[in-house]
Amino acid sequence: MKKLTAKQMLDLLKPKGKLGRPPVMRQCPYCKLAFTATALRAHQPACKAIHMQPPPPPPDPADLENQVLSSNPLERVRQLDQQEQDRIIRTLEP
Ligand SMILES: [Zn+2]
Repeated sequence: MKKLTAKQMLDLLKPKGKLGRPPVMRQCPYCKLAFTATALRAHQPACKAIHMQPPPPPPDPADLENQVLSSNPLERVRQLDQQEQDRIIRTLEP
């Protein structure tokens, strides 16, 4: 059996891989995958070209015509009713 020096034995006990802070992950706005900042910078132009445009922004809560309707039919009727009432109120307001 080969003899190891004390330094070689200590090197074998050291953990493999880099130590330090875990990388900060960022989400690609196009494909929603997580990347490190450097990887995202390399990935995003190509992904943007594939996806053409970022996903639409979430509905504006102040824009009542743009609210996402519920999948529940009763709730949807209530939402449409409320939208119509709000629309009438807005047309009556100066
Ligand atoms: Zn992407």
